[in-house]
Amino acid sequence: MVLKDNHGRTVNYLRLAVTDRCNLRCFYCMPEHGIDWLQRKELMTYEEMLQLCEILVPMGIEKIRITGGEPFARKDFMQFLIKLSGIKGLKELTLTTNGVLTAPYIPELKRIGIKAVNLSLDTLDQNRFFAITRRDELDKVLHTMHELLKHDIHVKLNAVVMEGRNTEDIIPLAALTKNYPIAVRYIEEMPFNGNGEYKGLAWDHIKILDELKTTYPDIQKIADPQYSTSYNYQIPNHKGTVGIIAAYTRSFCGSCNRIRITPQGDLQTCLYADGSLNVKDLLRAQQTAEDIQQAIKQAILNKDKDGRIAEQKRAATSSQTSMASIGG
Ligand code: SAM
Ligand code: SF4
Repeated sequence: MVLKDNHGRTVNYLRLAVTDRCNLRCFYCMPEHGIDWLQRKELMTYEEMLQLCEILVPMGIEKIRITGGEPFARKDFMQFLIKLSGIKGLKELTLTTNGVLTAPYIPELKRIGIKAVNLSLDTLDQNRFFAITRRDELDKVLHTMHELLKHDIHVKLNAVVMEGRNTEDIIPLAALTKNYPIAVRYIEEMPFNGNGEYKGLAWDHIKILDELKTTYPDIQKIADPQYSTSYNYQIPNHKGTVGIIAAYTRSFCGSCNRIRITPQGDLQTCLYADGSLNVKDLLRAQQTAEDIQQAIKQAILNKDKDGRIAEQKRAATSSQTSMASIGG
């Protein structure tokens, strides 16, 4: 079955945030003291999330990415993932993690068929890592990267590029692709730091590419996979690739294939939109799978044409949102 929105786009990708809690405090995502964490009863249970995915996969959702908050910060996350990996018809299961708690679970990730993991790493420098995440955990993240590679799990390294914070890491991160078959992806900073302060975008995708060209003038454009959110490049003779995600500029909305479910069960048809339907409420009201599918279909039909339109319609309070409560 193919799920389409009102603008003819196929929707086949779910990003499911399993928690809003996190063991880091990346300043672009949440304040130092954290956010108003959801109470347990507000969170979707693992059973509810499984039920929901069982409903979504037959509708045309082929790929699920688990995100958060930090997925491994939620108790018994691995048991949930094992069950999720068993859903019939699901073609791809992936996750996004900060890598601090991840390494011990890698053999199990491999066993259940996880082929790719997005690892968030903004800097290779210990002091800058601490300044950005407010925690001293760089070694663990690097260890996770090496373990993933050792287990032949593809690594996409996500780095948010921020003026005065980590622009000196743009080149060292790209240099990692010389010997490692990883995809380093630079992300434009978005206004989701949980306190509503956003100074505007200092480093857009054009500036990031210009910076890469200062050291790698012969960097080559390579084909972007279908539904790719990144513009992709390769430095000659490097094993890996680099990509730039125009997450704030929003140039990829025309091929958007995704929906999001927040930890409390809100269906968001765009990162910049408010939730349009609470699926946890439907599940708890014991609605039938058919009724829930119908409600989800309707919400997807109403998906905004692009992120600018979605943002204009958002409630004023949404400017205080943390990325940890949407999932990125
Ligand atoms: N905790 C996990 C992690 O950090 O990988 C998963 C959740 S995190 C919210 C998902 C992604 O969103 C990360 O790659 C993170 O860098 C990115 N992110 C968070 N806040 C952002 C912001 N304000 N602008 C751009 N990307 C952001
Ligand atoms: Fe935690 Fe990920 Fe947000 Fe950093 S970006 S605070 S690791 S949820």
